[in-house]
Amino acid sequence: MTLLRPNGGGAHCLVGRLESVAQQVLVSADALMHMCRYRQCSPWAKEAGGQLFGSISAEQILVTVATGPYPRDERSRYRYRSDPAAAQRSILVQAESGLLYLGEWHTHAEDHPDASGLDGDAMRLLLAKSQLNSNALLMLIVGRKTMVDSLGLWSVAAERVDQWHLEYAAT
Ligand SMILES: [Zn+2]
Repeated sequence: MTLLRPNGGGAHCLVGRLESVAQQVLVSADALMHMCRYRQCSPWAKEAGGQLFGSISAEQILVTVATGPYPRDERSRYRYRSDPAAAQRSILVQAESGLLYLGEWHTHAEDHPDASGLDGDAMRLLLAKSQLNSNALLMLIVGRKTMVDSLGLWSVAAERVDQWHLEYAAT
């Protein structure tokens, strides 16, 4: 297991920005480290994933917890789908601590992850089925490398998909 130490220093969080959007996305170091444990570094590693939770204010969308993967997920080298029952349980458990469901994450076996058409379709399906406080969901994809350009963040709404600009920041 390789921890996220892009500069050889301590833990970093992730900041996402989108032009013309006042809110920024902040992914906590804990959530980031949880997801990066599942990087598909070996040739046989399967995709992993789960859900993102946190809070929303006028200034930022704060992702504090990433959950999953779960024992009954569908996982292969190039596909991940959360066990719907386990994902739903996670959403209820996190809601008890006051955390909102914000979106999904999964890994890709590539260095510069790109959202596939299937990824976009899956997100739009979730969006249509979810009863959310917001009209968009986040989708974070974790590639194989430690550099920030091996991470991808998109917001998916019914009519549009935007890719956010990412940087590491000290915690
Ligand atoms: Zn994918």
